[in-house]
Amino acid sequence: MAASKIIVVGSMNMDLVTSTNRIPAVGETVIGDAFHTTPGGKGANQAMAAARLGAEVTMVGAVGDDAFGEAAMNNLKQQGIGTDAIRIVEGCSTGIAAITVSDGDNSIIVVPGANHSITPAVIEAQEEVLKNSDMLLVQLEIPLDSVIRAVQLAKKHNIRTILNPAPIQPLPMELLEMVDYLTPNEHEQTLLFASTDGSVKQLERLKEKCIVTKGSKGVMLYQNGEEILIPGVEVEAVDTTGAGDSFNGALAFALCQGKSVEEACRFANVVGAISVTKFGAQAGMPTMEEVEGFLR
Ligand code: ATP
Repeated sequence: MAASKIIVVGSMNMDLVTSTNRIPAVGETVIGDAFHTTPGGKGANQAMAAARLGAEVTMVGAVGDDAFGEAAMNNLKQQGIGTDAIRIVEGCSTGIAAITVSDGDNSIIVVPGANHSITPAVIEAQEEVLKNSDMLLVQLEIPLDSVIRAVQLAKKHNIRTILNPAPIQPLPMELLEMVDYLTPNEHEQTLLFASTDGSVKQLERLKEKCIVTKGSKGVMLYQNGEEILIPGVEVEAVDTTGAGDSFNGALAFALCQGKSVEEACRFANVVGAISVTKFGAQAGMPTMEEVEGFLR
């Protein structure tokens, strides 16, 4: 298997998950049922998904100088992900998502913390690593200026780029024109096109770059004006958190392996499906052996 060198520029978080039978109202205290912490952040999740499959992954990100940062970093190291380009920011907290889960509903507070200290200068300092990669994988949980800088540098060195436009926000056409693949889910695709001004030609070009994830319904891609729907793989879904991240990591890996866009989407569709059969965003991300076992 050829090495797939993927550079992921993005967020690293610790998810703090509380289960309770009722989400408290303002001013109220309730006794929860259970609490656990689990590493997350779209950047770290996507890095993990690609690494599990066998990619050589370098993470560019930032954590605070606290216990969550150390845990988030160790989690990536244990998977063999390169962590030399992760900054430890003094006096800053690691990004967190405080998640309260109750009877299928949830409420979430995200504090970006150190993720906001990833400036364009931080990205520029990693130009050498970027230059030696096969693929850049980036999302929108870090400052937009830095996303743009990363994509500009990738373009300069002819490195292909996947932009997972999540969480969705209005994006400049300059950025959208530079990326090779866009991976919105259905909701993000609608908002992406609603918030983007461009000529008919530009919007057509944009559509052809879109690989739209549709949950259990699978994936839609566009080629030469035709829609190609890859149906979802039937599985028993227990937790769909991180399905999109698994899909993106797998897509990057498969494209680096030389698969066509459609083949890569078929592969990532299987990986996304396997990922929802276990609890936890990262826990369900399969190794290549598991994918092969599933397909047998
Ligand atoms: P999340 O934000 O939860 O990570 P997302 O909205 O970004 O997810 P989805 O479209 O829900 O992404 O899922 C990504 C991919 O994972 C889908 O295109 C599909 O391949 C796979 N997938 C997700 N949910 C299921 C499911 N219930 N059954 C089979 N495959 C699924």
